[in-house]
Amino acid sequence: MQIIRDIATLHRAVAALKQGGKSVALVPTMGALHDGHLSLVQMARRVADHVVVSIFVNPTQFGPNEDFAAYPRDEARDAALLVNEGVSLLWAPDVAVMYPGGHSTHIEVAELGADYCGAARPGHFDGVATVVAKLFNQVRPDIAIFGEKDWQQLAIIRRMARDLDFALDILGAPIARDADGLALSSRNAYLSPEQRRAAAAFPNALKAAAAALANGGDMYETLAKAEAAIVAGGFDSVDYIALADAASLERLADVRPPARLLAAARIGKTRLIDNYPVG
Ligand code: AMP
Repeated sequence: MQIIRDIATLHRAVAALKQGGKSVALVPTMGALHDGHLSLVQMARRVADHVVVSIFVNPTQFGPNEDFAAYPRDEARDAALLVNEGVSLLWAPDVAVMYPGGHSTHIEVAELGADYCGAARPGHFDGVATVVAKLFNQVRPDIAIFGEKDWQQLAIIRRMARDLDFALDILGAPIARDADGLALSSRNAYLSPEQRRAAAAFPNALKAAAAALANGGDMYETLAKAEAAIVAGGFDSVDYIALADAASLERLADVRPPARLLAAARIGKTRLIDNYPVG
């Protein structure tokens, strides 16, 4: 696996991978890789001839009081995992390569980025969309793969690719979970053992609520019950819990497929997100 840190070398290396009409799939990540990331890499291997993984902790998608500095970083460990998965190329630019002095152009995500995580994290999705657009232009993959774990992000990137005519396919990969149901996340590393034990209350409450809604349960009652169960389970607060149209992300007053239950909750200093299909 080649580890590349500058754009000119990247362009040459990707051109070499594409020789003979071979396809390239890109899996963008922020590193601190876990089995959720690796499931995306495995999907990429199934759908393309070569897999490129990017690791870039993108400062512009973190708010001033968020965890950019503390975000876990261990490139050597990540690289070893990716070698094992048969990845061809690791694209690992540093901040000065991604944002050279004078960088001043960004993508603004309109209504899809306003609600849910966008409401709690102003500017977050503009930062995500901009860096993903740059990654698409840098790597020029045929396919890019994103996790359904970040459902709003996936919807925004699909829309961006359509709106800005990126010539690639976007694939969503199912959420990888621990045995107790907690979605795998690099941020789970922040949880104390006690918080980690409590954290399963979050997916369990969402799963139960999604089933209740699919069975005709009253929406306000069901969501209030889920929120109470999450807090009773040891969370400090629920940022949002909402039934949304799976593609437009519009809030729904009742179940209209394809619908998705989206939520974020805080336990100690850690903010976790998750989602389940409804019906
Ligand atoms: P991140 O490193 O957190 O930016 O995540 C990189 C990619 O991995 C994103 O497309 C995420 O949606 C995806 N991802 C993270 N955790 C999971 C998970 N538990 N299951 C599936 N995909 C995931």
